[in-house]
Amino acid sequence: MTPRAWAGLTLVALVLLLVVVTALLVPWHRPPAPRADQLAALDELRPADVARGRAFKSALRPGSYGGMAVGLLVALLLGLTPLGAKLVGLVGRPFGDNWIAQAVLGGLAVVLVADLLTLPFAAWRHSVVARYGLATQGWGGWTIDLLKSYAVSAVIGAVALLGFYTVIRLAPRWWWAFGAAGAAVLVTLLSFVLPVLVEPIFNRFTPMEPGPTRTELMALAERDDVPVRDVLVADASRRTRAVNAYVSGFGPTRRIVVYDTLLRDAPPAEVASVVAHELGHAKDRDVLAGTLTGALGAAAAVVALYLLGSWSALLRAANVDSVAEPRAFPLLIALVTVAGLVAAPAQAWVSRQVEARADAHALALTGDPAAFEAMQRRLSSVNLADPDPPRWEYLYSASHPSTVERMAAARAYARGAGG
Ligand SMILES: [Zn+2]
Repeated sequence: MTPRAWAGLTLVALVLLLVVVTALLVPWHRPPAPRADQLAALDELRPADVARGRAFKSALRPGSYGGMAVGLLVALLLGLTPLGAKLVGLVGRPFGDNWIAQAVLGGLAVVLVADLLTLPFAAWRHSVVARYGLATQGWGGWTIDLLKSYAVSAVIGAVALLGFYTVIRLAPRWWWAFGAAGAAVLVTLLSFVLPVLVEPIFNRFTPMEPGPTRTELMALAERDDVPVRDVLVADASRRTRAVNAYVSGFGPTRRIVVYDTLLRDAPPAEVASVVAHELGHAKDRDVLAGTLTGALGAAAAVVALYLLGSWSALLRAANVDSVAEPRAFPLLIALVTVAGLVAAPAQAWVSRQVEARADAHALALTGDPAAFEAMQRRLSSVNLADPDPPRWEYLYSASHPSTVERMAAARAYARGAGG
């Protein structure tokens, strides 16, 4: 069998594995609460809050979708015309066309060009967020955050690019196999490392101060049988008024993080309902499942790129001889960008199912649907959410059930619990 045939077989196996893993780990049968309950919930929200959330979302849209469209356009322009290959070649030239310079600096230059061209849209989004009073950060802080995130991406990108093109040079016929394994390892490693190494670059995390709230939350975790070493508080208020909490990492790096904005504003019962939701993620190993599917997806992507790389029309369009040369990196980026946009609705759907399960966990653990509903109302109002967003946008990109769905779920729970 040729390396190509093996690659085809491997891709089929990876996709099957991905389907099986997703089928086993994602809660498929979790229909949203009845629409009548959702509409009743919507009616009880303050009309001014709903209108403000909707105005905020429509003000954001041109920046968000404009940035997305320009990002796609730039990726296609660099990847499917000779422009990208030319850029990589130009960057490598001062270094005598050295392959490391081409691979690492050329690759980073391609990403930087795309970032710079979409930068005005990011700035537009920040100006809207600031205008609506959600941002507590001026342009200085915003710029520093931006530079930090460029630096982090450059470091991770350089490591990935150097590793990828080294493997290609060492194993010209079988690079896809090592590349796939390497991509899976990198995704897994990042899941461990990002919370400890990268998140502190952007925020300060301190253990929640001893007191009734901390005691109650640790008791909640114990009752839930989820070992939690600590609940951390992030100084999110330096950047935003928005309230949130999340769980990241797994094994020794697993942590539950609560925004300081949440602790400042919300009564303890509501904080407990948020943390109970996060405990649900921990209990159902959602971060682990996300890492596993991410690793399988990354491996499948590398193999798919190798197979697509023998499509001569693509190579001709990009003016390269082989998908394995650094000058073909813009072509890879174009393919990955398209794949990402196509896969977004499926990813959003999976995310919503997982989030709905964590909500159900929170309701069952706290047995307090009233606090849960109050928290959803607060999240929606403070974060300027559209509590019942347009269907197309919800289906394409909503990572969480809508506010009215979550409130309706609390009502359904209350009825089921005999309330
Ligand atoms: Zn969640």
